[in-house]
Amino acid sequence: MSTKNRKSTKLVQSGIAQDEAYAAVIPPLYLSSTHKMRGFNKFPEYQYSRVRNPTRDVLVEALTNLENGHNATVTASGMAAIALTLHLLNTDDLLIAPYDCYGRAYRLMCALSEKGHFKLEFVDQYGPDAAQMIADKNPRMVFIETPSNPVMRIADINTIAEAVHNKNPGSLIVCDNTFLSPILQRPLELGADIVTHSTTKFLNGHSDVVGGAVIAKDKAVWEELDFWANSLGVIGAPFDSYMTMRGMRTLALRVRHAQDNAQQIAEMLTQHNAIENVYYPGLSNHDGHDIAKKQQDGFGAMLSFTLKGGPEKSKIFIDELEIFVLAQSLG
Ligand code: PLP
Repeated sequence: MSTKNRKSTKLVQSGIAQDEAYAAVIPPLYLSSTHKMRGFNKFPEYQYSRVRNPTRDVLVEALTNLENGHNATVTASGMAAIALTLHLLNTDDLLIAPYDCYGRAYRLMCALSEKGHFKLEFVDQYGPDAAQMIADKNPRMVFIETPSNPVMRIADINTIAEAVHNKNPGSLIVCDNTFLSPILQRPLELGADIVTHSTTKFLNGHSDVVGGAVIAKDKAVWEELDFWANSLGVIGAPFDSYMTMRGMRTLALRVRHAQDNAQQIAEMLTQHNAIENVYYPGLSNHDGHDIAKKQQDGFGAMLSFTLKGGPEKSKIFIDELEIFVLAQSLG
C-alpha cells in the first residue's frame, strides 16, 4: 500500500475505538472546561480545556500525521493560526511575505509591523530568481501561500526553503496550505518548518465551522507555538474540533473528487469564447504548472477566471448561476 493510501486510511481511523470509559467507537465530544483532580497535587492527564482537551487532541493527532509534523496546535480560526505563528517573531526579525497573500493575513502583518512587532517586506515569490532574492534579505521568517488567492500563482517551496536555510539555518519557512490540504501538498516534506491552515475550508469541508491549525516540524518550534496558543487562548473549541474531525474523515475523497471537477471545468472554460483568462495550475499553459506538478500530488480544486466584457458581464454571469451560491470562503 502506498504511503498516500496509508495516510488516508489512518485519517479515517483517527481516534476510533479508543474510548476507555464506555468503549464508544467514535471519539466522544468532551465539552467540560475542567477535569477533576485525583486529590491534592494529583493531576489527571487532562486538566483545563484551554491547555489541552481530549476532543481537540484527536484532531491534533490527525493533523500532525497528515502533515508529517512533530505536533500541531488547533486554533479558533485560520487567522488565529497565522497570528499565532507571527508571535514567534522578535522586533528586529524580518518577515517576508507574498504581495498577493490572503487579504486579512496581509492586513494583520501590516498592522503588527506598524506597531513595531517585526520588520516586514512583501515580495513576488514566483519568478525563477525569487528564492535567492528572498534568501539575500536574510529573513527570520518567510510566509508562503501556494497556490495563491485568487490567480493560483505557485511558489516553489523546496527551492525557497533551501536557499533561505542555506543562508540561515535558524530561519523559519511557514506555508499556508489551506488551498490544497495535506492530501495534495505537504510543505514540511518540501523543507518548510511550519504549516498553517484555515480548517474552515477543505479540512472541515462542510462550511459549518470556522477553525484553524498550525503544524510544526520540530519540537522546539512547536513548544513555542504551544506556549503562545495557551497564553493567548486562541485554541479551537471542542465542538468545532469534533465537527472538523468528522469532516476530515472524508477529506481524501472530497478533495480528489472536487479536483477532478475543477480540471474539467477549467478545460471547458478555456474553450468558451466568453472567457478571457482561466487560472488553474492543472492547465499546461499556467505559469506555475511545472512547479505544481513537481511539488503537489494533484492540481487542486480551486480555479478562477475572468470574463470578456468586464464587470457588467460578470454581474449577468453571477446573477444567472444556478448551482453555485455567491458567498465568501472555499472548499
Ligand atoms: N488563509 C487562506 C489562504 C484563506 O483563504 C483564509 C480565509 O479565506 C484564511 C487563511 C483565514 O482563515 P479563517 O477565515 O478560517 O480565519
